[in-house]
Amino acid sequence: MFIDIHTHVQQFSDEDLELLVNNSKNSNIELIIAAGTTISDSRKTINLSKKYDLIYSAVGIHPQNILDEDTKGYLNILEELTKNEKTIMISEIGLDIQPDSPDINLQKEFFSNQINIARKSKLPIAFHVRNAEKEAIDLIGSENIKDIKSVAHYFVGNYEYAKKLLDNNCYISIAKPFLRDEILAEVISKLPLEKLVIETDSYPQYFKKNRMRWTEPKDLILIVNKLSEILDVNKSKLIEILNKNAKNILGI
Ligand SMILES: [Zn+2]
Repeated sequence: MFIDIHTHVQQFSDEDLELLVNNSKNSNIELIIAAGTTISDSRKTINLSKKYDLIYSAVGIHPQNILDEDTKGYLNILEELTKNEKTIMISEIGLDIQPDSPDINLQKEFFSNQINIARKSKLPIAFHVRNAEKEAIDLIGSENIKDIKSVAHYFVGNYEYAKKLLDNNCYISIAKPFLRDEILAEVISKLPLEKLVIETDSYPQYFKKNRMRWTEPKDLILIVNKLSEILDVNKSKLIEILNKNAKNILGI
């Protein structure tokens, strides 16, 4: 049984989602976290969690999407959304520095505020960091997130960065990039197994014409196979530990 700790399956069309859920069931996927990127997208994760047994909801505003919608009163709204029984995480939150990104200070304000919602509602967080490793480490340090369960999602950094995440008591989530990136695989091979979880970050990939090649939770097996190889851990033992780590984070 596998747990996909970070996806955006709520963004699939009904038809594509039916296929994804079937593929997931046939591939021993036990639980999929659907992470919201805006308030309305977070509401979609709740609707899906009510429709499908294996889908659970995470609510949050992604740093890239802060300006997409009116966010007036977002703290109260998100807090209210966490009351849904199957909303078990605050995500996707974080920092993302690109030319078209919202102002970094605004991103930091949203990240900090959403960490506070997690603390208040006793939920774990999964956070995104792109081109902002130093800023993220500074922020999670000053927010002192050691006392909440946290996941650095889609890890693609170097060992020094990983070490700083571990020092802040973060779990590190491994996605598909290391399947083709030997330098990244080398970094991951040095990480402590008891702090690892896995994810696919699945979202609809309309740019890939062949629907069968879209990334889906069923691809977790590819990650497990490679992890088993580079960590030199027996596959069933590895799956057991990854599952235990994810359940510990999610409190289930
Ligand atoms: Zn994501």
